[in-house]
Amino acid sequence: MKRLRGKPAVLLMLILSFLMLAVHTHLRGESENHAHEHHARTMSFHIDDPHGEQDDETKVQADGLDRWLSSLANASWPEPALSERTVHYDIHVYLDEKEMKLIGRQLVVWTHPGRLPVHEVYFHAYPNAFESKKTSFMRESGGKLRQDKMPKGGYGHMNIGRIVYSRYPAGQTEKASQENSRTSWELSNSSHYVQPDDGNRHDRTLLRVDLPEPVQPGEQAVFAIDFTVKLPFAFARMGVVDDFVMAGQWFPKLSAFETEGRRGRAREGWNAHQYHGNSEFYADFGTYRVTMDVPHDYIVAATGIAVGEPRQHENRSLHRFIAYDVHDFAWAASPHFVVEEHTVRQQNGDPVRLLLYLDPDHAHLRDRYIKAASTALKRFGEWMGPYPYPTLSVVVPPKGGNGAGGMEYPALITAWAAEKSDPGYELERVVIHEIGHQYFYGILANNEFEEAWLDEAFTSYVEDRVMREEYKVYSPAPVEAGFVTTPAPLAQNAWEYQDHGHYADNVYVRGKLVLREIEKRIGTELMDQALKQYYKHWKFKHPSTQDFQQVLEWISGESWDDFFRTFIYGGAMTDYAIVSVQSQIVQQHGETVYEHELFIEKQGVEYPRVPLQLRFEDGSVMNRLLDGRPERQKVTVLHRSPLKMAVLDPHYTMLLENRRLNNYMRGNVDQNENIRWTLAIVHAVENMMRLWVW
Ligand SMILES: [Zn+2]
Repeated sequence: MKRLRGKPAVLLMLILSFLMLAVHTHLRGESENHAHEHHARTMSFHIDDPHGEQDDETKVQADGLDRWLSSLANASWPEPALSERTVHYDIHVYLDEKEMKLIGRQLVVWTHPGRLPVHEVYFHAYPNAFESKKTSFMRESGGKLRQDKMPKGGYGHMNIGRIVYSRYPAGQTEKASQENSRTSWELSNSSHYVQPDDGNRHDRTLLRVDLPEPVQPGEQAVFAIDFTVKLPFAFARMGVVDDFVMAGQWFPKLSAFETEGRRGRAREGWNAHQYHGNSEFYADFGTYRVTMDVPHDYIVAATGIAVGEPRQHENRSLHRFIAYDVHDFAWAASPHFVVEEHTVRQQNGDPVRLLLYLDPDHAHLRDRYIKAASTALKRFGEWMGPYPYPTLSVVVPPKGGNGAGGMEYPALITAWAAEKSDPGYELERVVIHEIGHQYFYGILANNEFEEAWLDEAFTSYVEDRVMREEYKVYSPAPVEAGFVTTPAPLAQNAWEYQDHGHYADNVYVRGKLVLREIEKRIGTELMDQALKQYYKHWKFKHPSTQDFQQVLEWISGESWDDFFRTFIYGGAMTDYAIVSVQSQIVQQHGETVYEHELFIEKQGVEYPRVPLQLRFEDGSVMNRLLDGRPERQKVTVLHRSPLKMAVLDPHYTMLLENRRLNNYMRGNVDQNENIRWTLAIVHAVENMMRLWVW
């Protein structure tokens, strides 16, 4: 088996040479700083050199903020930029493996993209979701996510220490540098935690920082921040399991700033929410340089590209990564990872380095991981467009670490933990699902606080298609509709669903069925075109539900207003019921026949055509297609045999019909619900047997 950082160094040198060619000055600092305003304080911000001697353009050796800034000014990023790159992070983090703490220092450079002065900024302090039972996350989730529970004493938190702020005038970075006119403020006392969503004072996941002078449009605001994170037990995405560390949402992260028009926004401003039991993330695109200082035997997986070999110093090693055109940066570390590498060649010729960080218990499953990941990259590439990053890392958490498993971050995903040595197709399914997220959460970059379905439903939809087409594993989607017992709107805030089940039933299952229904109505070919256009037009731009509707209307040439109002902005489902069956013997042309009379009622949202199947005692079967419009309709059938059973939609083609119990009725017997139940269950089981042929 091959380690990560052997031969790849050659490739890295090539990438670095390319980066150096594309020198792009983001901002320039100067070595001396003279505060010139009476209320400003000059900060001396000592940065320990984390790298020893310097040998490349990403060096961050400096003895002050200015030096750090000037090292950023010399950083180079590939051009053209794929995204707006409104924010840059430079982070140094030390992993204290004994205390399971992260000790960090970061520089955040935010370029104001809007038109009005900004007087305050917001930072997410996501690890504080796990600091007590009283946080909004813990209250809403009950200390549990999926099947994973917070164990006793598994708490963690984030402390944000000093915050130093400075800013550069619009378009005058050079001049400001020359005049040494940059001013810095220490803002630690002008920050406080806020709870805009629920007013829960015990929630410290969103920090508001008031600025002594506003950031003007086009200006760059620079924040130097000290922080520490006591890592929680990883039951909800981030944290530790023994010596395995999953650092996701681990640094003070600037909220997304929405300019006028983005996602239909009338007035520009921050989109700042707390960390909730049912919500994921949303941030602006940018660039990252991250250095992790870890024990020397730890292997590090991260968003982005490793810069050079890890450097050893005493018993530690320094791992450096850069990432660009991403809106988050995650990393994982363990002394036990088995690292595998495979290059996937995309349709456009671009290679993707697939990096596997396997738990040793899953080292023998290497080929399955590689096949699942390459298949996903290939299929999503065909549907939507090439994967734009040079690497994709797949982390397999250890046994007991499923809380960290099955999660997406830009260019890094986690698979299910290595619980079983011989897992079923859930191994492939989760890898494909998380790679699907690279496109929706990662590149389109939906607002997962407010429109989570744009991420989870789309991802579940493409995941199902890959599983079906590549692995012949079928999702019993028609049966899944029956799980949606309490349908709710899809375009609503994630924390407004009743609980995690309600959120998942709607955002994942119902949302996916809505997309399958769209595909059914316009055909697979047009659906593919819609996906492709949606991706092409909106990648790196944070689209909304409305933006997707527009693409769909453009591709299909018709209005989808009613459909969206009903199923997406509304929580409606289709429902038709057989309300009665009556049979009598009649004479027809001298023969004795049965006249069967059925009443069908529309009890939910209309569906254009409703299939009805009549099964008779003599074994014959009759199929009818009913007009879905009438509120109540009578169906009369003459047949030589008594009626055994009537079934609406026997083949589960009405994907958004969730109450199927009333779709069945036996002929000539009492219409008691028990019989309906039995029939419905028999049907469901039949279908599951048919569909789940793994
Ligand atoms: Zn997902």
